[in-house]
Amino acid sequence: MPDCPHFSADYSNARAKFLAACAAVNIPYTTYVHPNLGPSGESLCTDCVCFGSETAERVLIVTSAVHGVEGFCGSAAMTAWLHSGDCMQAAEGTRVILIHALNPYGFAWLRRVNEDNVDLNRNFINHEEMLPDSTAYGSLHSKLVPQRWNEDVAAGIRRMLSQHVARNGLLSMQALVCSGQYQHRDGLFYGGTQATWSHRVLKNILRSSTATAKHIVLLDFHTGLGTYGTPELICAKPADNCVKNWFTDKLSCAQLGNAIGPKLSGTIGYGLRQAAPAANVYSITVEFGTYDVYRVLLAIIADNWLHLRGHVQSEMGQRIKQEVRSSFYPDQDDWCEPVLKRSQCILNEAADGLAAI
Ligand SMILES: [Zn+2]
Repeated sequence: MPDCPHFSADYSNARAKFLAACAAVNIPYTTYVHPNLGPSGESLCTDCVCFGSETAERVLIVTSAVHGVEGFCGSAAMTAWLHSGDCMQAAEGTRVILIHALNPYGFAWLRRVNEDNVDLNRNFINHEEMLPDSTAYGSLHSKLVPQRWNEDVAAGIRRMLSQHVARNGLLSMQALVCSGQYQHRDGLFYGGTQATWSHRVLKNILRSSTATAKHIVLLDFHTGLGTYGTPELICAKPADNCVKNWFTDKLSCAQLGNAIGPKLSGTIGYGLRQAAPAANVYSITVEFGTYDVYRVLLAIIADNWLHLRGHVQSEMGQRIKQEVRSSFYPDQDDWCEPVLKRSQCILNEAADGLAAI
């Protein structure tokens, strides 16, 4: 475990620290109780704290654990920010909303996806319209969702992916595998065919908190892509580049192809734009790197196999869970310390930038 006290060993611990931080600054929170339980029978909840003027024209929204197991980082960032008092300063003239564990199921069960195998950051499409085309992913689906799991299978998938990267580049492989698919409910990066529990909770929060907003900044904390312990701030659209002078760290744009990840469908930033069509929305994914892309992808593929065809309590199951946790949360000081430091800067810089609009 790292020395940093704001990082946690598991979801329940992270939740307790966040709620204690809310209590320390005397701010009430709202709890949304998930219908499922965690692996130890614990309640699963999304907790939301809002402070600052309810009629503010500027709103800063911070989300964590959209991809469940990635929540260790966002949770620590929010908890530390609450304790620092900087968030109280940010709330002068700005409405600040911290949403802890938007996908509590994934956080507690150490999964990137939710209880329905849905990638929440691909779920914010308009489900009444035609679903995005999933043909490209479909051509690889059977190879990415194997019947059996062992070292040879993993090595074969790694070989297939690296051959594609050698021919077409990393972004092309990521776009093919990771950008979001809507056909294979047992597959990877599945966006679902209806709004999930977490999707509905977020829309609920947004409806009541953005009615008077003219400018909204969303900082959505993720891990697993990029250089170890280093953040990249990924904007969904080039227009968001009006925020380019706010931050010390690298700012990129998925649509322009200069980011560490591909263009995605159904992100929560898109959901925010739908919920607050009259506001200027600056949606920023804060992505902290961990390990190389093949290791992280193979951890996701193994976890998908495990929940589909394996046994979580088996020896192999526990090994896979440990690898998923490590891939998204290197719980040691050389990762946690820079992540916490940069996350506090990013939160303060976003608050300052928003206040100056
Ligand atoms: Zn993520």
